[in-house]
Amino acid sequence: MSVDQLRIIPRKDLPQWLDQMLSSFTVVAPTPQADYTNFKVITSGDQVDLESVNTRMSPKHLFFPKTERLFGFTTDRQQVDLDGQREDIPPRVLFGLRPCDARAVTMLDQVFDTDIFRDTSYVVRRQATTIVTLACNRLAASCFCTRLGSNPADTVGSDVIIVELPDNRLAIQPLTSKGQDLLKTADLPVSATAPDIEAFAQAIHTAQNADSTEPIDPDQLARKLTTIYESDFWDHDHQRCLACGTCTYLCPTCHCFDIADEAKDTTGQRVRNWDSCMFGLFTLHASGHNPRPVQKHRLRQRIMHKFCYTIDRYNQAFCVGCGRCVSRCPVNIDLREILNQLEDYQGG
Ligand code: SF4
Ligand code: SF4
Repeated sequence: MSVDQLRIIPRKDLPQWLDQMLSSFTVVAPTPQADYTNFKVITSGDQVDLESVNTRMSPKHLFFPKTERLFGFTTDRQQVDLDGQREDIPPRVLFGLRPCDARAVTMLDQVFDTDIFRDTSYVVRRQATTIVTLACNRLAASCFCTRLGSNPADTVGSDVIIVELPDNRLAIQPLTSKGQDLLKTADLPVSATAPDIEAFAQAIHTAQNADSTEPIDPDQLARKLTTIYESDFWDHDHQRCLACGTCTYLCPTCHCFDIADEAKDTTGQRVRNWDSCMFGLFTLHASGHNPRPVQKHRLRQRIMHKFCYTIDRYNQAFCVGCGRCVSRCPVNIDLREILNQLEDYQGG
């Protein structure tokens, strides 16, 4: 990582930098909500809470909202009103993402912004956003990003990375032209000394080696999943699954949606809503037939989608090891255990 543009500031000056940012950008950052944090638009730098490792909700709703009007229509005049596709997003900074969430955004890019299919609402939000990531200097009990080939100082998906130095200072490094533009708008002198650069490199090294767990081999896992599709591997965990959908709603990479028309009299709108493969109605056909009639099939689908189909299609598992599904599942279904069991499973 080049350190040409490295800035060093005392941690206590962070609110001041955010206040400065607020004069040119909308800033969305983790803020305290009862006993957890979530991403909210801030109006002052001192509202930001960077102590918790991960927000409860992932930041995916900032690019792919839970519910979104696609267009309106009238049935009497047979007109379509495309208002919902012309959302104007002012330049914004998504501040304080953790590396896992920043990496997850690059996975959503592969779904919503491709040469064949471009979701204009998503692309507008994405282009308007500069992502400032905070490297993790501690891991939550549910974190397992290293199992997925990442690490607590991963820079994939970030425009700027911030690393905490041991002496209550922050090292701020732009990684893209967007990141450089953001730092140009701030009064942050490029003043890193040789010892600062050494401390930065050391902090990155420590974060990258904070967890020595062996990464999964995605190709091997995908191959195994193909061979055990009909096996008894799937007979157990589903029994306690409540089909609540929490795991998929909190996940930064899950992106299934449903499209519905809401109409009254002669006017209506077409909306896109998050959906979940864990719901019984997800694959219910109008005929009444459901190709995934029981929860066993739905849990299998979630694992197959994340660790087999996305490897076939995008060459990577669609899990970043953020641990949200692990820590929030009401019946303690633990994805890390499922991955361990999968690796050990010898049946077929
Ligand atoms: S599957 Fe679980 S651990 Fe993986 S990215 Fe989604 S919520 Fe995070
Ligand atoms: S959070 Fe747990 S109980 Fe709810 S759908 Fe996911 S695996 Fe099932």
